[in-house]
Amino acid sequence: FPVENIRNFSIIAHVDHGKSTLADRLLELTGTIDKTKNNKQVLDKLQVERERGITVKAQTASLFYNCEGKQYLLNLIDTPGHVDFSYEVSRSLSACQGVLLVVDANEGIQAQTVANFFLAFEAQLSVIPVINKIDLKNADPERVENQIEKVFDIPSDECIKISAKLGTNVERVLQAVIERIPPPKVHRKNPLRALVFDSTFDQYRGVIANVALFDGVVSKGDKIVSAHTQKTYEVNEVGVLNPNEQPTHKLYAGQVGYLIAGMKDVTEAQIGDTLYLHKQPVEPLPGFKSAKPMVFAGMYPLDQSEYNNLKSAIEKLTLNDSSVTVHRDSSLALGAGWRLGFLGLLHMEVFNQRLEQEYNASVILTTPTVPYKAVLSSSKLIKARRAVQKNMIFIDQNRVMLKYLFPLNEIVVDFYDSLKSLSSGYASFDYEDAGYQTAELVKMDILLNGNTVEELVTVVHKDKAHSIGKAICERLRDSLPRQLFEIAIQAAIGSKIIARETVKAYRKNVLAKCYGGDITRKMKLLKRQAEGKKKLRKIGNVEVPKDAFIKVLKTV
Ligand code: GDP
Ligand code: MG
Repeated sequence: FPVENIRNFSIIAHVDHGKSTLADRLLELTGTIDKTKNNKQVLDKLQVERERGITVKAQTASLFYNCEGKQYLLNLIDTPGHVDFSYEVSRSLSACQGVLLVVDANEGIQAQTVANFFLAFEAQLSVIPVINKIDLKNADPERVENQIEKVFDIPSDECIKISAKLGTNVERVLQAVIERIPPPKVHRKNPLRALVFDSTFDQYRGVIANVALFDGVVSKGDKIVSAHTQKTYEVNEVGVLNPNEQPTHKLYAGQVGYLIAGMKDVTEAQIGDTLYLHKQPVEPLPGFKSAKPMVFAGMYPLDQSEYNNLKSAIEKLTLNDSSVTVHRDSSLALGAGWRLGFLGLLHMEVFNQRLEQEYNASVILTTPTVPYKAVLSSSKLIKARRAVQKNMIFIDQNRVMLKYLFPLNEIVVDFYDSLKSLSSGYASFDYEDAGYQTAELVKMDILLNGNTVEELVTVVHKDKAHSIGKAICERLRDSLPRQLFEIAIQAAIGSKIIARETVKAYRKNVLAKCYGGDITRKMKLLKRQAEGKKKLRKIGNVEVPKDAFIKVLKTV
């Protein structure tokens, strides 16, 4: 296929603005899939993706399109739409020369529109603005055109107004792809240089790496090397994605496709890695970095007898996602489990949901935490969410973009939900890593009658210690059963007590209500009490049932 007739592009959008629907129409228009009423988000294969309407794994499709007597090969490279995956987005974009920036005609520019635009802008791609959903009654495409001109400095006459749902003007989008996006700049005569921009694991065939060829040619039987791991492999299969895998003899520079080479798991084909031919080393493509987890949480089986099942489910899922880190961990209260690292909160939720849906696992996930670097000093240890405003841009009269520097731990738990509810759903949010900052953090202990509960030790900001300590003490108070003596629940920093709750002593015994009652009822109560005991853990003289831990530790 002549390089001049190849276009590599991606669709970027804020969630729900119509990226998947537009992809469906493009697949139909080019005859890649049949036109039926059932084509809904064809590229979104996972159940979680369909349910949550987000893209987790990037999908790629090669489309053939005839225009003015010439046949074009259009490679549509999907990107995950969410901030948690912004590194994957930037790698997928580096395989492209242009993007379709889809903006909802009703909602206008949102947080991820901005974040994704800048990823494309930094990669120096041609940006084609597409205003979608013009069929909606409240659609205001002119307002959105003005926003696009103001925020992104793209002349409003470059916007294409479409309805992806009805198919209106979608053909014009394909023409713009051909006219406005340049063909890839590649050298077929140079030695092979291929970018891995995604990888998946197949039970039977091993790792399937999605690749974009910058230079050279690759064919079945070639020996290739990973620049990152320096391991050598023999290529078993190459092909294009249509969107299903279709083997071909070779892949040439400028093409996008897949490659299978006996890699055992996805850590051997990491996103951003460069592949080259054995004994023909090349300069690796720039920008590679290993995935860096930002959010950590403990994961435990609901019941220890489920440990092995959960272990194998986690192993299978991580075969497909090299960005999740797994370390064995154990908790006195919750038993044996793992400490998992995720790219972000959504990533964590999706992982959890996939465990439940695809492996039928029931798990306890503890409240997520973020990494800190501790610096030892004489005392070990810089508004409500500790944010510093960076700038403010008015998108139009009704909309403003605010930029803040936030501590990550302030946004991992419930920030997104609070923001949505405070703004009645109008605000949208996006973030990027701004590095480590110094902060006055303290280690907070939770004590039961003076004894530390190890599983509840946390690191908190000094100014929030009181309110967080109080909340934990209250949650514990409400979930601890009364015992024969009074229980003092305290939150402490060093030797200083900052919050306290009390559980009053238990007066009656379980059978007190059953004076003269029938014997079977008494037996039942005694049995229940005995069963409860099995799951207790003793902290000093205080018995803590497993459930109390779950209630305090679990993500709310
Ligand atoms: P994505 O999250 O960007 O992939 O968005 P989807 O393609 O999943 O679309 C989100 C929702 O918007 C779905 O319910 C679509 O049916 C709907 N939608 C997409 N395009 C249009 C359109 O042109 N008009 C209307 N009315 N709805 C649309
Ligand atoms: Mg989608």
